[in-house]
Amino acid sequence: MIIKTTAIVLRIHPFSRTSRVVTWLTSDFGRVVTVIKGACRAKSAFLGQYDLAMRCELLFYRREHDGIHIARECTPLAWHPALRSCWRSAVAAAYLCELTSRVAEPMLESAALFELLDGGIEALDTGQAPEPTILRFEFALLRTLGLAPDFEPCADCMIASGPRPCRFSLPSGRLRCVQSRSHLPGGASVAVDAALLGALRAWQRTGGSPDGPATPALTLAVRRFLGMFMQHHLDLPLVSRQAAFAWLDARP
Ligand SMILES: [Zn+2]
Repeated sequence: MIIKTTAIVLRIHPFSRTSRVVTWLTSDFGRVVTVIKGACRAKSAFLGQYDLAMRCELLFYRREHDGIHIARECTPLAWHPALRSCWRSAVAAAYLCELTSRVAEPMLESAALFELLDGGIEALDTGQAPEPTILRFEFALLRTLGLAPDFEPCADCMIASGPRPCRFSLPSGRLRCVQSRSHLPGGASVAVDAALLGALRAWQRTGGSPDGPATPALTLAVRRFLGMFMQHHLDLPLVSRQAAFAWLDARP
């Protein structure tokens, strides 16, 4: 069966000397993996028609029993020129694509995820700062996956008089007093002070315009918190996240 759909390039891998395996995100079919035969031949119709983070019109033969389909045609719809000239935006876009390829389900309708990634790449292409775009994307991704952290005040803190040792419990995804019955013993937890909590709530609510000026130190704390949270709940190695931020932190 031939399928025509809009797809964003998530990954490109060598398959043979001249062929490539391309992983795409589509709205209707989620993650789709295709082989592009002869992609690197001098006269290939695919030359210049796809690259990382590009949005393309893709035609592929759907194979029912194999995970890898065969790409037949592809045409760029949005090739995002800024990502080809600004390395900071390119690094951020590559990370968004990598993260998406790890959470996207194969052959499953994924309209919300597609819209989210398309919006994130578009933001980077129009010159929005990479770090806040990444954090905004990660908060929105967790929400889309139904895994958003809960920053509501801890119920035990509300009843207790006086300050109690309260931390953010990673397994339960919410604030919990250390002595609470619901605090999982041995469960990983993170200290969250009032300033960080305010910043986290603001990022989650408004996508990155915390009340008052966001200091670089606070943004770094939000980034670290989110890294730990995703590590815990997405159950995947975040090497690409560390690499992306290491590049972005490096001053030219
Ligand atoms: Zn508490």
